[in-house]
Order: sequence, then C-alpha cells, then structure tokens
Amino acid sequence: MDTTSLDNAARREILANLDRFIRGRLAPRVKAIDASAEFPRDLYREVGGLGIFGLYAPEAFGGSGPDLVTPLLVAERLARHSVAFSLSVSNMGDCILPILAGGTDRTKQAYLPPLVRGEIVPCFCLSEPSGGSDVAAMRTSARRDGGDYVISGRKAWITSAPVADVAVVFAKTDPAAGHKGMTGFVVPIKSKGIAVGKPEDLLGLRGSPTAEVVFDEVRVPAEARLGQEGEGFRLAMSTLDESRLNVAAISLGAAAASIHEAVEYARTRIQFGKPIIEHQGLQFILSNLATELASSRALWEKAVAIMRRGPSRLASLYAGMSKLTASDLAMKAAVDAAEVLGAVGLTKSYPIERLMRDCKALQIFEGSNEIQRWSIGRQLQKSGLTLEEIDRIIATDD
Ligand SMILES: Cc1cc2nc3c(=O)[nH]c(=O)nc-3n(C[C@H](O)[C@H](O)[C@H](O)COP(=O)(O)OP(=O)(O)OC[C@H]3O[C@@H](n4cnc5c(N)ncnc54)[C@H](O)[C@@H]3O)c2cc1C
Repeated sequence: MDTTSLDNAARREILANLDRFIRGRLAPRVKAIDASAEFPRDLYREVGGLGIFGLYAPEAFGGSGPDLVTPLLVAERLARHSVAFSLSVSNMGDCILPILAGGTDRTKQAYLPPLVRGEIVPCFCLSEPSGGSDVAAMRTSARRDGGDYVISGRKAWITSAPVADVAVVFAKTDPAAGHKGMTGFVVPIKSKGIAVGKPEDLLGLRGSPTAEVVFDEVRVPAEARLGQEGEGFRLAMSTLDESRLNVAAISLGAAAASIHEAVEYARTRIQFGKPIIEHQGLQFILSNLATELASSRALWEKAVAIMRRGPSRLASLYAGMSKLTASDLAMKAAVDAAEVLGAVGLTKSYPIERLMRDCKALQIFEGSNEIQRWSIGRQLQKSGLTLEEIDRIIATDD
C-alpha cells in the first residue's frame, strides 16, 4: 500500500522529534534495559505520543498514514541505539497492517486508535513450536461454531507477547487445504483460554520480550476474522514482505552503529606507535564494512522504491534480498567490530557485545536467511534471469 501520505516537511519534523527522544530518553536507558530485560512501557507510550505509531494508520483511525517510508527510517535510527527497542516499536506495523487490510470497520475502530496512541501493545502470532519456516504446516485451528470461531493451538517466539494486550493470530479454518486453509483473527490477549508463557531468556534483544502463546478453545466472534476464510496466508505473507524491509532497516541501523564504534576506536587506539586504523590489515576490515553498508543501503532503497508501487513479485523478491544482505551485514559488522576493539569490545563498556548478541536474531526472524535464499533461488528457477530482467533490476527510475 502506498505510502506517500507524509510530505517531506512532516517527515523531517517527526524524525527531528524522534532524534530528540533518542538523545534525551532512549540513549541514557539502553544499557539498563538490556541488563534488566524489562520492556520500557513508558518509552513505548512516548513513541505513541510522537506520532510514530500513527504513521501506520490512516486519519480515520487516529493516524497520519499509512506511510511506508517514515517508519522504516524510524526503525533504522532507533536501531543505532537499541535493536531491541526498535523491534518493539516496529512490531506495531506487523499487527496494524493485517487489521487494516482485513478488519471490519468496527474492528479497526476498536483497536487502531489505542494502538496508534501507544496505549495498547500488539503481537503477531504466526510461528509455532513445530515450525517457523514452514508456515503452511501450522497446527493451530479455528473451528466455526455458530456465529463464533473457536481457536486452539500454540504459537512460539512471539515478540511482545508478555506485554501485549491484543494478538493478531493465524489459524487453519480448513486444515485439509494447506496454505489456502489459513485465516487471520484479532483477539484480545485477556480472552478466556489464552495463556502467555514466561518470557524466553534469550541471548539478545533483551527488553523486547518474547514468549509462547497458548490458545485453548478460545471463542471469538466471527467479526474478529481478518478478511475471508482462506485469506490468512496471503495476509501474513504481504505483511512479512513489508516487515522484511523493516528488519533490513533495523539491520542497517545496527551495522552503522558497529562500524561507527569500530572506526572511532581504531582512530584513537595506539599500537606499535600509531593509531591502529593506520595498520593496513585492520583498515581493510573497516573499508569492507563501510563499502558493504553503502551497497546494502542502496539495495534497501531500491527495495523500498519498488514496494512503494504496491505489492508484486518483484517487491517480494527485493524485500527478501534486502533483508538477507542487511541482516548478514549487521551480524558481520558486530563481529568484525569486536575484532577491531580487541578485549574491550567484549565488555559492557562498549555497545559491541550487545550488538553481537542482538543481531543474530535478525538473520533468523521474518523468514530466516536460508529461507530468503531458497525463495530467491525458486524465483530464478521459475522465471530464469533474462538480460531484460537484469536491465529492469538495475534501472534507476523506480
Ligand atoms: C527474537 C525472535 C522474535 C520472533 N518474533 C516472532 C513473532 O513476533 N511472531 C512470529 O510469528 N514469529 C516470531 N519469531 C519466530 C521466527 O519467525 C522463527 O524463528 C523463524 O521463522 C524460523 O523458524 P524456526 O525457529 O522454527 O526454525 P525452523 O523453521 O525449524 O528452521 C531451523 C533451521 O532450518 C533452516 N531451514 C528450514 N527450512 C529450510 C529450507 N527449506 N531450506 C533451507 N534451510 C531451511 C532455517 O533457516 C533454520 O536455520 C521470532 C523469533 C525470534 C528468534
């Protein structure tokens, strides 16, 4: 969905307010959030107050959007300081998109205004303990019962579940129909029969809590359905296309943070009588990272430009390629930065050890990077890569 709702002046104002929030409110808290692994609900509400969540929704529901580009720039900037908080904030997009695309007017009026204000927290329930990559193999079911549906099953690794008020959940309404039997629903977390597990004790992303959500015969009215029965897979996949651009944005922010730390350190740390950046072996590590950041950001900009024209096969392909390259770079930049900093890079005095812990997940969620490679490979197998297609790919007029 386009995305041009905000003019440049409005975008600049939002980003300037965000920068003030990052400097004054977020940056001083980042270490403490990581140490305690506590979700900073006060900061989350403040982000709502800055109008950031409103970027996902149209004016009729309290927003100023939908705007594709600005939330991505927000995610990138937040991730330079906290990958975890950036994820908590941008998870809103994963939840608002399916509600906007498939919810009834009453559903939208009920959920979108408080979501936009940051008063309630959503979560996106797709993955299951039996599998995340093979989405169509999900076991959660939604059985029609008169005017209701009854949902049963387990969802795993759900971002924000421990602090969420509402869940967008995908279940099989026709288990025999494979991915065509999947349907989306929006369900209050306090509904009878929902149990949220203890937050997972993860390596990184501490402060962005993740947990299992169990649905035990949860009864919801038919009105909670998002779109028609069987439209869930398409709804989930189009949401993931946009959120892959978002993971790429977070990854670019994280990679920039690692590279910045490494360069600053290398310019001042003296070994063998000169700053270590003057040792060519180390200089090459930094040159490669800076070059890869520039090329990865260029690919992301191209992917965003294609997505702005609306959902398409090319948009999915580019979103996947961008997520793949940017998240691989984020992990590599953190590891290489640790190399540059030597022992101090492994201490909590520098953000590099946190970036190393946080960035791994970027390669895993929203479709692992192997799944991105598989899906890019499938496109090559299906349609080949003609020279005309290559011309289209490298064209600059997107
Ligand atoms: C921090 C975090 C937050 C998350 N948040 C959410 C959320 O909010 N909502 C949600 O629904 N899910 C969420 N997830 C789940 C995430 O989407 C899944 O972890 C991911 O899709 C991978 O699924 P899996 O972990 O079950 O791995 P599996 O699917 O079991 O895969 C295991 C390994 O096999 C590889 N693999 C699988 N199939 C293939 C193939 N065909 N070809 C090559 N390799 C393959 C995978 O790449 C992976 O390396 C989150 C995960 C994490 C870590």
